[in-house]
Amino acid sequence: MKKKILVTGGAGYIGSHTIKQLGEAGYDIVVYDNLSTGNAKSITYGTLSVGDLADRQQLDRVFAEHDFEAVIHFAASISVPDSVVSPLAYYSNNTANALNLLHCCQQFGVNKFIFSSTAAVYGQPTDNPITEDTIPEPLNPYGSSKLMSERIIRDYALASDLKYVILRYFNVAGAEVGGTLGKTQPAHHLIAAACDAALGKRPSMSIFGTDFDTPDGTGIRDYIHIDDLARAHLDALIYLDRSNCSSQILNCGYGQGYSVRQVIEKVKQISGVDFTVIEAERRAGDPACVIAGAERITETLGWKPRFNDLDLIVRTAFAWEKKLISNSTQQWAVR
Ligand code: UDP
Repeated sequence: MKKKILVTGGAGYIGSHTIKQLGEAGYDIVVYDNLSTGNAKSITYGTLSVGDLADRQQLDRVFAEHDFEAVIHFAASISVPDSVVSPLAYYSNNTANALNLLHCCQQFGVNKFIFSSTAAVYGQPTDNPITEDTIPEPLNPYGSSKLMSERIIRDYALASDLKYVILRYFNVAGAEVGGTLGKTQPAHHLIAAACDAALGKRPSMSIFGTDFDTPDGTGIRDYIHIDDLARAHLDALIYLDRSNCSSQILNCGYGQGYSVRQVIEKVKQISGVDFTVIEAERRAGDPACVIAGAERITETLGWKPRFNDLDLIVRTAFAWEKKLISNSTQQWAVR
């Protein structure tokens, strides 16, 4: 019989790419998503239950109806600036709702849990690459809300038979290599902003800070292709099936960084558009350099990056943004 997996937030960017790989690998999937930022059309396998994680009664019904082997918990709010403006909303959606989900796992005897965490738990790193042993010190409510969830998961696992894999994502980017999936909502991240500028969706873009202590003065990040990140969840699921597995916290990145200027140059090269770039002030709280120590995930899960290539990351992101424009133009033309 197929193993059944509950995927919260499966209609979102990372969730939808993961579901595609889980479906192709033969898992049975139930998506639980309130569709606040996700898109039902991006769910390529399984069934969708539209609901909120705050709604314990509905969650209970979903758990009662299915015999889940494991839970993959993506559903969350993910904007750092929003979290600063609305911290309580972030603690509710990210921390309290994760707690709700764990209560269901306890009640219904589900003991495998994969959790979407973030490099934001590390805060301002002093050393790069950042290993999982670095003491987390988040700088904003988003990072704190994720770290609190991590601690709840860890403490519950210590008191139960729960086994978990917590994945700390670095800068996820790009779109499915096959071209059928991509971002499910507009994003303000670097690669999305540069693609938008190249496509004329915005008149220009800004570099936030050119005076960092980096070779070209701009921020350096570890960009991981979405399909590689999605694959890490499948590998985590397979890992949790091993009889000798232990709970893990694992960075998801390539252990290699690119500066803002390098990324912008790549987008210009791939799009063939020399869009306007404004040199602006630093954004509050932006660290100079964030690179994952990425050995542990490879050693533990046997995860192998396949798309560690900035060219491919940008090409897939750009193709997706372009496709969105032509789709909306078609819709507009039909009306
Ligand atoms: N960045 C930029 N212009 C933009 C968006 C981002 O210069 O329009 C910079 C940002 O300051 C950081 C890097 O690009 O150095 C990555 O930012 P992003 O928002 O993509 O991800 P973050 O690392 O903040 O999670």
